[in-house]
Amino acid sequence: MAQHEHVRVAVIGSGFGGLGAAVRLRREGITDFLVLERAGSVGGTWRDNSYPGCACDVPSHLYSFSFAPNPDWPRTFSGQEHIRAYLERVADTFGLRPHIRLNHEVTLMRWDNDALHWVIEAANGATFTADVVVSATGPLSDPKLPDIPGLADFPGKVFHSAQWDHDYDLAGKRVAVIGTGASAIQIVPEIQPQARRLTLFQRTPPWVMPRMDRAISGAEKWLHRALPFTGTARRGLLWGIRELQVGAFTKHPDQLGLVERIAKANMARAIKDPQLRAKLTPSYRIGCKRILLSNAYYPALAEPNVDVVASGLSEVRGSTLVASDGTETEADVIVLGTGFHVTDMPIADRVVGAEGITLAESWKDGMESLRGASAAGFPNWMTIIGPNTGLGNSSMILMIESQLNYMADYLRQLDVLGGRVALGARSSAVGAWNRRVQDRMKRTVWNTGGCTSWYLDSTGRNTTVWPGTTAEFRRATRAVDLAEYEVIRPPVPNGPRKAVLAEEAAR
Ligand code: NAP
Repeated sequence: MAQHEHVRVAVIGSGFGGLGAAVRLRREGITDFLVLERAGSVGGTWRDNSYPGCACDVPSHLYSFSFAPNPDWPRTFSGQEHIRAYLERVADTFGLRPHIRLNHEVTLMRWDNDALHWVIEAANGATFTADVVVSATGPLSDPKLPDIPGLADFPGKVFHSAQWDHDYDLAGKRVAVIGTGASAIQIVPEIQPQARRLTLFQRTPPWVMPRMDRAISGAEKWLHRALPFTGTARRGLLWGIRELQVGAFTKHPDQLGLVERIAKANMARAIKDPQLRAKLTPSYRIGCKRILLSNAYYPALAEPNVDVVASGLSEVRGSTLVASDGTETEADVIVLGTGFHVTDMPIADRVVGAEGITLAESWKDGMESLRGASAAGFPNWMTIIGPNTGLGNSSMILMIESQLNYMADYLRQLDVLGGRVALGARSSAVGAWNRRVQDRMKRTVWNTGGCTSWYLDSTGRNTTVWPGTTAEFRRATRAVDLAEYEVIRPPVPNGPRKAVLAEEAAR
């Protein structure tokens, strides 16, 4: 039977952002909330990405919640299964299970101007209303399948890195890997020994740095368990080092030349063939795209069963893959390491705001929001990892926790205002925030480094990355500034539709 429930807060998604929001709500004493999750288990991108070799390239002691330290991380850069298990444990430890509705894919969120709440519909027929929506669907949740002529008629197997088919045996197959992003470079070394031939379609070579990965010793684990402040200190050190690097990315990309030399030496150690080295050498500034970490990628490319086609895949004719430079390759299986819908997230088509338009329509000229959270025209709706909250060099969990501070203060402000009330981000405030962000963006390596990347939208605007330190973002999201919002009350009969109480906002 279709269910209907009203909650104070509906959290959408149960990855790091959604589970973090749920813990924070409970810590604030709020228990009237639900987490709606489209899949059958929690974990978000760390549930979906189970491809061989999947691991995080941010150290585990930093890539975890500050309120849920894990002294037992097995490696400095832990693998997907350990990160997924950590998130499952967070759901148990903080008593989140009763709040989580699995297999509830949200198909529509519609703001009701009269009732001042969100009406939420799920694919399974369930409906909900919520005073506030916290959308934590994540930017890396919807695989991007390239629009390549003939791909649909390929007679072999095709799958995306985030939808790995573990029942399909790659042994003895001719495997084509499309893409050279963070996912593909982890996959290639894992599957190269099994494949008869592996052909890598590289449209743009990545910069690849050595990966300082090692097992965490029993003594270290014991120390972090017995003296928790040592784990905190370790986290602080990892954070501090990354904060010091930010200026090179955001203000002085010229300083990154030294890092390029380290990456070139990393390549030279494994790639002896000068022609292959030339193919693999990037022609843009390091850091413009995400810097990748691997000790195994280049050695795998040097193996005799591997070919690198230095060109994108442009057409599929039967089992023949045709690159943009005309190279033809026969394949049995295609692995798409082609990334995600980041600047065009499908969830934006499912959110209908106060003016009756979708978030996607509102963002047709590019995503923008106030402090990475609130979009104009979408009252009481906030995003975790919203526009311009991504990082090039540090842990997204730091940004998520900053956004949770903002979420908590937002809910406090609603309580203080009292009664039926909503906060709508003022267009002027959203505009001012984004002008500041874009102004700072002009000098960054992501905008000046001479590359295209998923950080940029189709117009070339960087709507994904935060152009500052995580400490700056923490300060910017410590509290809600009511002057940046309209206070919306239910419509007065025969009065203006939206009663904006400016004096109230100023109080
Ligand atoms: P991605 O970085 O967006 O990479 C997609 C790749 O596909 C790019 O190399 C792109 O080439 C290529 N591509 C697209 N169409 C192509 C075509 N027709 N022919 C050849 N190549 C084509 O995606 P991702 O690797 O899944 O990574 C996404 C993000 O997830 C990362 O940036 C990172 O934030 C996160 N991630 C992190 C880890 C980690 O922590 N280790 C691992 C995986 C993912 P161009 O470069 O030319 O566009």
